Amino acid sequence: MRIQLLPSTFDAQGVATLEQRLTCFVIDDCVAVDAGSIAIALNGEQRNTVRDIIVTHPHMDHIASLPIFIDDLYPSLRQPMRIYATEEVIGLLERDVFNWNVYPRFSDLKNDYGPVMEYIPIPIGEPFRVAHLNVVAVPVNHIVPTVGLVVSDAQTSVAFSSDTAETEEFWKIVNEMKGLDALLIEASFPDRLSKLAHVSRHFTPATLGQELKKLTHNGMDIMAVHLKPSYREEIIQQLNALNIPRLKAMEPGRVYEW
Ligand SMILES: [Zn+2]
Ligand SMILES: [Zn+2]
Repeated sequence: MRIQLLPSTFDAQGVATLEQRLTCFVIDDCVAVDAGSIAIALNGEQRNTVRDIIVTHPHMDHIASLPIFIDDLYPSLRQPMRIYATEEVIGLLERDVFNWNVYPRFSDLKNDYGPVMEYIPIPIGEPFRVAHLNVVAVPVNHIVPTVGLVVSDAQTSVAFSSDTAETEEFWKIVNEMKGLDALLIEASFPDRLSKLAHVSRHFTPATLGQELKKLTHNGMDIMAVHLKPSYREEIIQQLNALNIPRLKAMEPGRVYEW
């Protein structure tokens, strides 16, 4: 499975920067997990192949350029953009984003080929199919309804925590997965901002270190994501000080293969 955390910004030479402002993972060039930077950082080829997007929750950093992405592709889409989310999250996207005020209700619109956007409600705790992948979604502990995911193909399984603080169900399915290859988990704030992390339901390196004790098996790569750009270096130093084997910060722009 090839996974790329899309970059959010580029320097004057067009080179991706390491600061992660927006969240969008691309799996095997065809499935996206969240869509923060989808319209600004997919390459030309990926723009033609990504048609399945799983939205974990409706926070702006996870959906910022989703409306623009569909708008950009509007005349040329030969199949609808499929948006996978829980019923609750679909309701929030329709109420707050695709509501004819912030942006058009694309789910009501068609181009010459047919509908341009389709919602696919996802179950909780039951496997569902997205392109060639098997996915299980479970609720995590964030300030809006949010799901973590375990995504598998025939060979490989990868877990995505999405945005969360201390949680239980996610670890239950992660611990049940034999042969998990990678765990992509958030570490948003440095330890000195633990109060802010607590009220906004995110991890710091210290709380992440505690949380990782819930893992009952090891050997997988643990990639820290969602590092707030202003504190990136500080968070990385604190993550390194935890001395957890195979824990690293994921680099935006780089393609990882598991
Ligand atoms: Zn969030
Ligand atoms: Zn976020």
